[in-house]
Amino acid sequence: MITINPVANNQNYKNLSFGIFLPKKVFTDIRDIPRMKCGCCGDDMFTSDETKAFINSFAAGSKRALENSAMARYRGTPAFEFLQSLSEIRPKDTIAKLLSVDENKAKLKTLGDRTRLDVNMMSLISEGITVKAPRFMQKLEKYRPHFGAEDAEILNLMDVYALKYPKKTFAEIFNMPEVIEYHREIAALDKKQAAAKKIEVFKQLREFGQQKLLSADRKALQDTNTKAMSILNYEFFEADIKKGLIDDLYNSFVDSAKTRFWRKNLMKIVDELPIPRRTPDDFVVHCVESKKTDKDIITYFAKSLQATYEHFIPRSKDGADIKENIIVLCGKCNHRRSNLPYPFFLRFAPEMMNNLQKQFNKIITFIKHGKLIGYDDYPIVMKENVLTGSDNLIRLQIRDYLDFRKERAVKQVERTQAALVRDDDRINSASGRISEIDEKIKELEVQIRKLKKERQPLKTELEDAKEVYRTSQLDAEDAKAELNSINDSIAQDRETNAILKYKRRNLKK
Ligand SMILES: [Zn+2]
Repeated sequence: MITINPVANNQNYKNLSFGIFLPKKVFTDIRDIPRMKCGCCGDDMFTSDETKAFINSFAAGSKRALENSAMARYRGTPAFEFLQSLSEIRPKDTIAKLLSVDENKAKLKTLGDRTRLDVNMMSLISEGITVKAPRFMQKLEKYRPHFGAEDAEILNLMDVYALKYPKKTFAEIFNMPEVIEYHREIAALDKKQAAAKKIEVFKQLREFGQQKLLSADRKALQDTNTKAMSILNYEFFEADIKKGLIDDLYNSFVDSAKTRFWRKNLMKIVDELPIPRRTPDDFVVHCVESKKTDKDIITYFAKSLQATYEHFIPRSKDGADIKENIIVLCGKCNHRRSNLPYPFFLRFAPEMMNNLQKQFNKIITFIKHGKLIGYDDYPIVMKENVLTGSDNLIRLQIRDYLDFRKERAVKQVERTQAALVRDDDRINSASGRISEIDEKIKELEVQIRKLKKERQPLKTELEDAKEVYRTSQLDAEDAKAELNSINDSIAQDRETNAILKYKRRNLKK
């Protein structure tokens, strides 16, 4: 997790390392294994999804968010009024949730560019605003036992503020002038006192060297003092761990010193060194100076509860990103371990070896229940590696596991064979159907051919009938024409007769 290691060159730790085989894919998936215990403290851990949901559950409803001081500069703008109108209907929904509703999206589109921009900014700001302090503490309550000593102190302080300012969020409380000034003063005073004490103790250590030690040992003590100083200044180690590291340093100096003197005398001075630890005052000052939002504050606590993976041999000591080199720890323990060598860290977490055993058994259970899909190659080569260098406490039930795998393989073969038989049946019944259909097609083809044959004479008959009809039509026309010419002749005859009659009358006269 962290790359600085003041004891990296200490030969005592170099040979003590152990590797456990975990599938490579664990690096991306391990966080989503449900409810696995931390390999160090044994607490339940959040998966990454649970962490997100946990953080989101602290988000303030739109009504609360709009009341927050971070929104002050938007009061009276059209954007503020728009969000207020949405919030009046569903005050408990977050602004982001309100804006994700289609109807409201459409409404937003009708607003001007400037207003839309303001609305989006306000939505972003609202993501950083959580519920008010008392509700914040209430929601965190059930996880309190999972936090380390330093965080527990911070939470106690936050309890007090939640009682004192029940109408505000923590980001608001920490930024109040009277609050931040108070904590700044105490934090500065602590640091000043610690610095003065540190100077005094190192002065005593130098004097001790000059008075009691041979010149060769004086140089070695000086080096030891420098290393102790760098450990004291290294902010990531917790106080008890720093104390352990420093005691080790001076003890190993005494062991290798050529001068004969009382260990007790030197260690009495060393015990006076002020070991810096993170106080609630530092936390408040840090929150204000780094402009932490409410969401940042809850994220800080949530990360302590989240499952993380961790290198057995730290990266800074060439520990590789391979399956042999990781275990799963909660965020709190991962942070606490920093990059300390395990043999050293185990002094502060003696339960760890037992918990690791439980963790690996649990991983195997997950595999057995198919929750780690794709991990078939899991501990095949574990046998020769798993116990190397460890104190033999980490023992996986390898024989059981291999038996289980064999059993599963047999079952898989059976299942596959059953599936094959089923498929055969299906293929057979399908081909039966296909030949049935083919048969029908053939029948239909015969029928079509027959009908086509019947159709041919009918067609010829039709053509003939049409021809007859056409001929009759022509005959009718001819007859009509003849009739007309007869009619004409009759008319002409009449006329001729009339003329003859007339002429005959005239001749008689
Ligand atoms: Zn833990």
